Amino acid sequence: MMSNQNPVFIPGPTNIPDRLRLAMQVQTQDHRAPDFVETFAPVLEGTKKVFGTTDGQIVTFPASGTGGWEAAVTNTLSPGDKVLVARYGVFSHRWIDLCQRHGLDVQVIDCTWGSGAPADKFGETLAADTNHEIRAVLVTHNETATGVRSDIAAVRQAMDNAKHPAMLFVDCVSSLASMPFEFDGWGVDIAVSGSQKGFMLATGMAILCVSPKALAAMETAKLPRTFFDFNDMMSANATGGFPYTPPLQLIYGMRESLTMLFEEGLDNVYARHFRLAEGVRCAVDAWGLKLVAQDPGLYSDTVSAIYVPDGFDSNALTDHAFNAYGVSFGVGLGQLNGKAFRIGHLGSLTDVMVLSGLATIEMAMADLDYPITLGSGVAAAQDYFRAGPSGHARAAA
Ligand SMILES: *Cc1c(COP(=O)(O)O)cnc(C)c1O
Repeated sequence: MMSNQNPVFIPGPTNIPDRLRLAMQVQTQDHRAPDFVETFAPVLEGTKKVFGTTDGQIVTFPASGTGGWEAAVTNTLSPGDKVLVARYGVFSHRWIDLCQRHGLDVQVIDCTWGSGAPADKFGETLAADTNHEIRAVLVTHNETATGVRSDIAAVRQAMDNAKHPAMLFVDCVSSLASMPFEFDGWGVDIAVSGSQKGFMLATGMAILCVSPKALAAMETAKLPRTFFDFNDMMSANATGGFPYTPPLQLIYGMRESLTMLFEEGLDNVYARHFRLAEGVRCAVDAWGLKLVAQDPGLYSDTVSAIYVPDGFDSNALTDHAFNAYGVSFGVGLGQLNGKAFRIGHLGSLTDVMVLSGLATIEMAMADLDYPITLGSGVAAAQDYFRAGPSGHARAAA
């Protein structure tokens, strides 16, 4: 089966457009040669635009997103420091686990999966912390396990209302370069992302944006760090160097990815993701299925987690879609395993590609006797794509 021709519908790693595969197809170069600075400096500068920052410092590491989290925590905190985190899915849970393993004192707010970051509860907890022991609030912007996007501006507002000086760390691995992000506007202190989702590249580059306040916190932060030391990276980068061997192919890929994003225009990139997500949501509605995300204000434009009907196993569905049709969809993670599947709709995707994914999962559901009407979801998405915000039916009328 020529399944390698099919796009994946997992929420990362995402499909790599040919243009970016070619950009990463470069011969070894000497990263100590004088021209490396010309390659790397514009990448750091361009990345700032995607984070929405002028004052933030871009720091990258050869790592997946998880390495970026580790860098955020170890550069700014000391053993025993208190951090505040809400758990509402597998990815927010992994932040908690990482902090605990680093010996931090983690105050966890457990939330229903399908809900978002609880700005009000953060506010109450911070207001009660009159000695200002909480050093950082950690938020997963887009919880990839549940398809929930949280309101970071509301979290910032709650922190400000409590007049609390804690830093704000945000995981934007599955939202950056696909949904709006305002590092400066939301007062974020560290944002963590990676190369393999919105940037449409191979996995292997952790991409962070760090505020002056978080950089200042390094002076007293005692958690050990060597590979992930911000200062080592920043001082080497400043003169066009790298503290160790850089992932050159990914740096070339990143340069081209930024060019692609800016050619399309970031606002158009966000509008496309919204449109694709709405098409998927129309299909889910037509199937009579329910999203895990509890209300429309929380809907993610990069991934939809969808409950299967009672008595069905979502793993059997994703396995069947792969075995019968050669198409990958996201499995249910954590407590949603077996209960929900996910459609990733981020990165290099068009209306037409999304329709193919909807048609495929519909066939798989019909094969497994789901109570859905074959074609209903595709038709609903077609109607939306024809008549929606940039729909052709409207444009032609
Ligand atoms: C993909 C993802 C990560 C990073 O995972 P890695 O596999 O380490 O790159 C972190 N957070 C969220 C929300 C993600 O979707």
